[in-house]
Amino acid sequence: MTTIKDNLKEIQENITTAAARCGRNPADITLVGVSKKHSVEKLQQAIHAGLSDLGENYIQEAMDKIDAIGSPAACWHFIGHLQSNKARFAVRYFDLIHTVDKIKLAREIDKQAKKIDKRQKILIQVNIAEEETKSGADAHDAVELTQAVTQFENLELQGLMCMPPYFDDPEEARPYFRHLVRIREQILAAGVTSDAMRHLSMGMSHDFAVAIQEGATLVRVGTAIFGARS
Ligand SMILES: *Cc1c(COP(=O)(O)O)cnc(C)c1O
Repeated sequence: MTTIKDNLKEIQENITTAAARCGRNPADITLVGVSKKHSVEKLQQAIHAGLSDLGENYIQEAMDKIDAIGSPAACWHFIGHLQSNKARFAVRYFDLIHTVDKIKLAREIDKQAKKIDKRQKILIQVNIAEEETKSGADAHDAVELTQAVTQFENLELQGLMCMPPYFDDPEEARPYFRHLVRIREQILAAGVTSDAMRHLSMGMSHDFAVAIQEGATLVRVGTAIFGARS
């Protein structure tokens, strides 16, 4: 039976190989372990094996787990759909929120961050395949939303996130990753600073190598670390 430690070692090696193949520095790529629906014990095993960043999707589940583990034990990423009425919890518990997709949500996060004197790091999620069932800003609204978000005092924009449809062949996800890179270029051309566009959160268990070739700086890997979710 492979352990979380073995899985992490293999994934780190794959990240290094994928980076080397395209001339990137592996240190510029952060592995975010996606731990939704996995137990506190498994998260602790991963942290113990050296994983520094964890991603959670559901606010209540995440709060319970972070309270049990202790927030300084890891850098916490919120990667699920966020409703405005849960923004205050996300601000208290998470270092980086990947899934800001509406100005209303950005405004609420800013308001809640102000209350606790925090500058909340965020990414804008783009619905890259324009799937009706998925959250994320439409690609053609992304430039405007991004510019608007930079005006909030208590938000620190750090880049973009996307989640392409699932394909058995990870090569088929490549055009979607490229599309996110093009949107990033449009945003930079519109005057947003490269600091505010430093991250591209893209790539999951089966397609992170392709995402790294296309410029991912944050890869969100669940199953390949923790096994199947029940
Ligand atoms: C669950 C999830 C992942 C991880 O998916 P795996 O296929 O298990 O690696 C990544 N990103 C988001 C947004 C998720 O919801």
